[in-house]
Amino acid sequence: MSYEHIEVPDDGTKVSAEDGELDVPDDPIIPILYGDGTGVDVGPAAQKVLSAAAEATGREVHWMRVYAGESAREKYGEDVNLPDETVDAIREHRVAIKGPLTTPVGAGFRSLNVALRQTLDLYANVRPTYYLDGVPSPMANPEEMDMVTFRENTEDVYAGIEWEAGTEEVEQVREFVEEELGFDETIHDGPVGIGVKPISEFGTKRLVREAIDYALEQENKQFVTLVHKGNIMKFTEGAFRDWGYEVAREEYGDEVITEDTLWEERDGEPPADAVVVNDRIADNMLQQIQTRTDQYDVLAMPNLNGDYISDACGAQIGGLGIAPGANFGEARCLAEPVHGSAPKYAGEDKVNPSAMILSGRILFEYMGWEDAGQLIRDAVEAQIQSGRVTYDIERQIEGGERVGTDAFADEVVEQIEKLA
Ligand code: NAD
Repeated sequence: MSYEHIEVPDDGTKVSAEDGELDVPDDPIIPILYGDGTGVDVGPAAQKVLSAAAEATGREVHWMRVYAGESAREKYGEDVNLPDETVDAIREHRVAIKGPLTTPVGAGFRSLNVALRQTLDLYANVRPTYYLDGVPSPMANPEEMDMVTFRENTEDVYAGIEWEAGTEEVEQVREFVEEELGFDETIHDGPVGIGVKPISEFGTKRLVREAIDYALEQENKQFVTLVHKGNIMKFTEGAFRDWGYEVAREEYGDEVITEDTLWEERDGEPPADAVVVNDRIADNMLQQIQTRTDQYDVLAMPNLNGDYISDACGAQIGGLGIAPGANFGEARCLAEPVHGSAPKYAGEDKVNPSAMILSGRILFEYMGWEDAGQLIRDAVEAQIQSGRVTYDIERQIEGGERVGTDAFADEVVEQIEKLA
């Protein structure tokens, strides 16, 4: 495929897929989008660390720059925020990594992140939250945090079906809801904004399957918790819980059991090799991640719960400078840090690139490069323990020394070389 502004590397091989399984060469072409704001700092920094980890494990990444947000407007013209060829290139190469993209608040500008996830049908947003030794944390026992959140990425109130107060559309919806559906005393008089919250069987089941499959693959992940607000929103969040349990009961045989069976038949003691599916109400879960951290492994959630709860998990292990993530679809992955573009620090060589580096770790592990992934984790941890860290960590530890984004990445590369 040829592109207008994207330069395809001269060498390298495309990652392909057959029957939902990735076929990953040792010299993959991987699209990289640096992103807006501090993306120009963390993007190149992460890129060199990831190249070093690949090289140390006998591979070579051929990076292919793609553009969105400000970088797209510069290259493609003022109104082009998400060029078609960026989406095509990511789709065609199956795996990619991106930095943050700015979403101005207000009308007329759809979130590019949401657009990318929806266009590429990246339906699972996955955020592993684990503690790296030496990172400052507000918790007494931060090492107990080792959870992976699976957030549904394509529906819920993020579907974008909403109407502004004062518009003809919102009044049509009000009339329909009041007169046709009988909710005549429910919506207050006067201006009102209305949104729709779709939660489907299809969207729920494919997300919960991903979470259960992941737990089955991992040795140390036994519990999959469905996090919902079904006590209030019975037909959306409650349905998420019911469809989630249905997947567990109907599709996995003895490999997966549900919490009620656990108590009825086994006195609360799970068999060593089975995955147990349970559920918790979202507000309770926000407490449990702090008070019973070690009892949870994998959380599967609708979009909004996932947004809140994954950030709360991230706060326990050092915050946005550290927290990595990735979006998954059918045999495709777009890795991205949890943090945004922090515009006030853009181009200052200041922010922490660890979140984007560790997002690359998720991507590499998905590609089957577990050794490179482990190396990245250990190298970032060793660098943090050395005390030469970016401002966000330095200000919270005693005796640390502040380094910039680029120097931090260079030193992580040195750690990789030492550890390899
Ligand atoms: P933000 O994550 O950009 O920044 C909030 C604060 O977190 C910063 O002021 C900084 O103190 C800290 N921070 C963020 N990244 C850091 C890093 N790498 N190292 C150290 N500290 C870091 O959140 P925001 O200010 O709410 O959003 C700014 C823009 O980013 C908005 O336009 C928002 O829509 C967008 N955003 C994009 C994504 C994404 O691309 N996936 C995610 C969240 C927000």
